[in-house]
Amino acid sequence: MRFQSRSAFGWPASAAGRANPTKGLVIHYDGSNQGLARKAHSACVSYWKSTRSFHMGASRGWADIGYSFGACPHGYVMEGRGLGRVQAAQPGGNSTWYSVTLMSGPGEDPTPEQINAVRELRAWLMGKGVAGAVRGHRDFISTSCPGDKLYKLVKDGTFAKAPSEEDDMPEYVSVGIDEPIDLPPGQWVTVAWGKEYSDRDHHHWNEGGTTFVVGPARYGCTANVRIDGLAPGTELQARVIEVAEDGSKTEPGPIAEYTASQGATFLHYNLAADTVNSKFRVRFQVIHYGTETGRITSGSAKAFVWPT
Ligand SMILES: [Zn+2]
Ligand SMILES: [Zn+2]
Repeated sequence: MRFQSRSAFGWPASAAGRANPTKGLVIHYDGSNQGLARKAHSACVSYWKSTRSFHMGASRGWADIGYSFGACPHGYVMEGRGLGRVQAAQPGGNSTWYSVTLMSGPGEDPTPEQINAVRELRAWLMGKGVAGAVRGHRDFISTSCPGDKLYKLVKDGTFAKAPSEEDDMPEYVSVGIDEPIDLPPGQWVTVAWGKEYSDRDHHHWNEGGTTFVVGPARYGCTANVRIDGLAPGTELQARVIEVAEDGSKTEPGPIAEYTASQGATFLHYNLAADTVNSKFRVRFQVIHYGTETGRITSGSAKAFVWPT
């Protein structure tokens, strides 16, 4: 279990009263979508801290963050009140059940890593004598929490399965070109990927957009494009480029060189391994040094991504 304790957030020991919950684990959510799965884990830490401030502030006035634990989309279990404390999460079960929030809203699906984090938390609690039962907040009082998506997973037993082994399977992105792209001479042209074949982890930032890997991550990628309209012998280059989210900075990757052949020219670009930093997005560019305007008529890009 990837666990972050209170000390990682700069919090002192919880001021909440002692308890010995043994009945199981209660699932919660946030009433509004948070989009944390698309952000770096630092956004989860900020979210967790602001949740505690809200719970301890004027509108709630609690002794501490309301929950025992949080499970973030990146697969971390984040300590709230932690073990052995009364919660302010599910009246009717605050001293007899543990609580975990998934930090997501009604429109958000939990990530596989997040589901596994809940399973790991449950297994860890069971090792401390807590029963394996899993409930939703709405099983205690009338509330929308934990939302229909999560409650369905409570009811179908998804959270009560054994955690999966550490899984180092990379995320996979596969995108393609859906309309021709003009290639004027002497200009780097960023390829837009109008088709999305596979992108469970939201690397293809905007559908139809140019980004196909989002940092922070290690990744490898290939891009294959067909170019028409260039005279045989025309020189071409291709590269990936890492662009800052706010547009303030770009970092070009390795350049590969090609020569146009008779008829269509096929570029095969391969980058076995690279690193992209937080708040940077990877795109693919092509340039040629002919005199006519060429045209990218088809193509695709595929990437394996290991978030860091
Ligand atoms: Zn709740
Ligand atoms: Zn996270």
